[in-house]
Amino acid sequence: MKVYCEFCGTKCRRDSYDSGFGIMYGPWGCPECRWSEDDRYDLREGAKFTKNGYRLDQYGGAWPPKEPNA
Ligand SMILES: [Zn+2]
Repeated sequence: MKVYCEFCGTKCRRDSYDSGFGIMYGPWGCPECRWSEDDRYDLREGAKFTKNGYRLDQYGGAWPPKEPNA
């Protein structure tokens, strides 16, 4: 399956992970303009953060506020 960003035409990607019950997929996201198919992760208008300060990515992930060597 291939998905292209409806805003900039870049080939999208998504994260996959093994939940223990099967492979799960995060929302499709664009590496170029940071569009996400999930509104909660759509970063086209700027970065988004969770309540505890984690930075969201367009693939449904969340990253700690302080990364070592960042
Ligand atoms: Zn895009």
